[in-house]
Amino acid sequence: MKSKIWLSSPHMGGREMEFVKEAFDTNWVAPLGANVDGFEEDLSKYLSNSNIASNNSDNKQTIHVAALSAGTAALHLAMIMLNVKTGDEVICQSMTFSASANPITYLGAKPIFVDSDRETWNICPVQLERAIEDRIKVTGKKPKAIIAVHLYGMPYKVDEVMAVANRYQIPVIEDAAEALGSTYKGEGCGTFGVMGVLSFNGNKIITTSGGGALVSNSESYIKQARFLSTQARDNAPHYEHTQIGYNYRMSNIVAGIGRGQMLVLNDRVALRRKINAIYREAFKDTAIEFLSEPNEKFFSNHWLTAIQIDAEKCGVTREDIRLALQEENIESRPLWKPMHMQPVFADCPFYGNGTSEKLFENGLCLPSGSNMTNEEQNRVISIILNKL
Ligand SMILES: *Cc1c(COP(=O)(O)O)cnc(C)c1O
Repeated sequence: MKSKIWLSSPHMGGREMEFVKEAFDTNWVAPLGANVDGFEEDLSKYLSNSNIASNNSDNKQTIHVAALSAGTAALHLAMIMLNVKTGDEVICQSMTFSASANPITYLGAKPIFVDSDRETWNICPVQLERAIEDRIKVTGKKPKAIIAVHLYGMPYKVDEVMAVANRYQIPVIEDAAEALGSTYKGEGCGTFGVMGVLSFNGNKIITTSGGGALVSNSESYIKQARFLSTQARDNAPHYEHTQIGYNYRMSNIVAGIGRGQMLVLNDRVALRRKINAIYREAFKDTAIEFLSEPNEKFFSNHWLTAIQIDAEKCGVTREDIRLALQEENIESRPLWKPMHMQPVFADCPFYGNGTSEKLFENGLCLPSGSNMTNEEQNRVISIILNKL
């Protein structure tokens, strides 16, 4: 059996254990401590544009960060703070991972799904406006929030989407779970909406084994997120509660891994982009189409290299390629199946024109881990070229 090549596997930088050891040595084995504070500070500095990879912005806003147990928890808290309740509607990009949409249902609200645009494969500003107009007509009220996703690290069309959101005064929650290190006009993904969400799950660009963060330029949201994520304990010597709380805070052990990973984040972005560039070069004379930055405003971390295999142009289907790779012990994965096509969301309204369905049909994510060797990437490339 040939050695396994993963889609995206954890890639430690080497110094993570120092921070974890410090937590043990000082006995801060708890959901608070120096690593949690330090990791929040590292992320805050990074997103406040002090050392972001493509730093070319004069706009230095301060971004506040709450480290949490998961990106899903961050999405849940964001919607709680925007007062999403039973009977409300929340708009969500259809082409995404289910975790973007699931927390809408935790609150008894209804997801309204919106199609992708052909360039970024993310939420289409035209379909978004159509959806808002129609929901107002049908229900008599506006959707409570918009969840826009920077899928595979590609920024969505921030200016166009924000223009629509601002016109109707609907807050945007940015799902930047896959996009730490990506920027739009030089500013970090996750910092454009009222709140942004990051994930440090095992396959993301940096990982803490599991974990997430809520980010915002509004300090009050972040303070409230820290409060809600530690069981909403009021200030009293006994346990006093005036609100329902959650156990969503990040552990100080896990945050130590995060601090070590932050030391190598820019390197990881550079490696993922290099892997993407090598694939592009290898397939430049084929009919394979890549998810690409539309212009210089967009800077993708290229977390996963995502391609389109149009059977008519390529002579093979997406499944032919995926199975050929699987045969050689190489993991690839179809694009995330749009939420409006998922059985669990069959009852939810959808506004679109077939774009995400088509992208899903032909779309494949290639192995993109920053720890993949040149030899391994060459194995992937030659199997695909042999099939075409
Ligand atoms: C991973 C991911 C999430 C969820 O983050 P977790 O930390 O795994 O809870 C949400 N949205 C997207 C787009 C993701 O890829």
